[in-house]
Amino acid sequence: MQNLTKFFIGGEWVKPLSSATLPILNPATEEPIGTVAMGISEDVDSAVKAAKAAFTAFSVTSKQERLHLLYRLKAATERRLEDLAQAMRIEMGAPITMARSAQADAAIGHLRGFIEALQELEESKVLANGDILLREPIGVCGLITPWNWPINQIALKVIPVLATGSTCVLKPSEHTPISAMIYAEIIDEAGYPPGVFNLVNGDGPTVGAALSRHPEIQMMSFTGSTRAGIAVTHDAAETVKRVTLELGGKSPNLVFSDCKLEERVAASVRECMFNTGQSCDAPSRLLVERSCYDEALRIAKLTIDSVKVGDPEQTGDHIGPLFDKIQFDRVQSMIEAGLAEGATLLAGGLGKPDGVTTGWFAKPTIFADVSNHMRVAQEEIFGPVLVIIPFDDEDDAIAIANDTPYGLAAYLQTGDPERALRVAKRLRAGAVHINGGGFNYGSPFGGYKQSGNGREGGIMGLEDYLETKTLHGMS
Ligand code: NAD
Repeated sequence: MQNLTKFFIGGEWVKPLSSATLPILNPATEEPIGTVAMGISEDVDSAVKAAKAAFTAFSVTSKQERLHLLYRLKAATERRLEDLAQAMRIEMGAPITMARSAQADAAIGHLRGFIEALQELEESKVLANGDILLREPIGVCGLITPWNWPINQIALKVIPVLATGSTCVLKPSEHTPISAMIYAEIIDEAGYPPGVFNLVNGDGPTVGAALSRHPEIQMMSFTGSTRAGIAVTHDAAETVKRVTLELGGKSPNLVFSDCKLEERVAASVRECMFNTGQSCDAPSRLLVERSCYDEALRIAKLTIDSVKVGDPEQTGDHIGPLFDKIQFDRVQSMIEAGLAEGATLLAGGLGKPDGVTTGWFAKPTIFADVSNHMRVAQEEIFGPVLVIIPFDDEDDAIAIANDTPYGLAAYLQTGDPERALRVAKRLRAGAVHINGGGFNYGSPFGGYKQSGNGREGGIMGLEDYLETKTLHGMS
């Protein structure tokens, strides 16, 4: 991958201003797969300069022109889907079948959602009092993304920038630069004017902070940990930027005894293991009504025993490795914490799966008899670890569900539609998935509480990138 040592600035692949680099490792083999250049604040300055210069012309393009470019982006993305999937397989260990069907597919799915949203967007509107509202692009945006859904997060930020007429500098996770750089090539191929999209690689405290503090950037859109989201907010405060945050989660999954227990518990366990548990909205706390608790444990154990861990290169529905050694060690220390706190180990546990020596593979693990104050119930583990907590009744379930600093997603299993609506309304979360209802591209995604603010995707995802101007005296 020749461009790993360059940045995309002003429509060109340019040399970084520093010689610092970071090795990129394949988590399944622990072998190096490349070296990425690490930027410094001067690289950010030149990218912001290019984005600012491009904003003058791009911000006054018509909706039709921007839609036309989005269709070109769609065609260019479709041509590179396999490259994106292979990149995410090798840089973060996504098994190839899900890398294709979910990780890479997100680039097209979100694009479809944003095209529909842009078609609907009213860029000017007459109010009842005669004043006119204009919706205008916000300006130069700084975009920071994580490694766990690399292209999904990039698409959710870059596409609304392109759709609304803003310009941007993207800093993808320093650990997953390959898919991000392919995405830069896709944007280039689609024919965007130089400077509309710029990419600078680097670490958070250097390049991320330089973006957050930059006086010529009007908005920061950040996805990652709550810790780093707080740092971005602090850094951006000095220059009064708009800041949207998509942060961590510890999502509850409420299982009532009136649901199709066998089906819903099995699906819930599999959903928690998806992407090796490295999803911000993973249903990682399974809350089960006491009257069906023992039966739910039996189904959960049976299901987890069928979850296979395997080579990302192989097709199939197995899960892959954790993303790196730090993540592996963190998952191990959380399993140790669960054992020390007295949770019952129902499956999995410490160490790698039997026979595995290489790669950051962890055992699919379930803790039962967990109480919600334990660390394994409160902290984001970001691995294939499910905790099961019993509850007495609806009020108890809702209280436990809401008793965390996070509020990204919640899951609900019940055969009673009235209960589904009643409980969903009381859950403090940005999305409630009922009986397996999955996310649809074009719907808003985002969190309550310390899971963030703002909403990505669809019309709300566009609005985050728009300013409002009121014209008085035009009627
Ligand atoms: P992270 O916070 O360590 O890194 C995310 C990004 O922030 C990276 O690009 C990193 O370089 C940058 N960064 C780190 N410190 C920074 C700083 N001080 N200033 C500016 N940028 C900084 O997170 P991660 O380990 O890459 O990703 C996992 C986390 O992301 C989890 O907490 C997960 O829940 C969260 N996440 C949230 C969503 C969502 O939509 N809510 C989606 C995916 C991941």
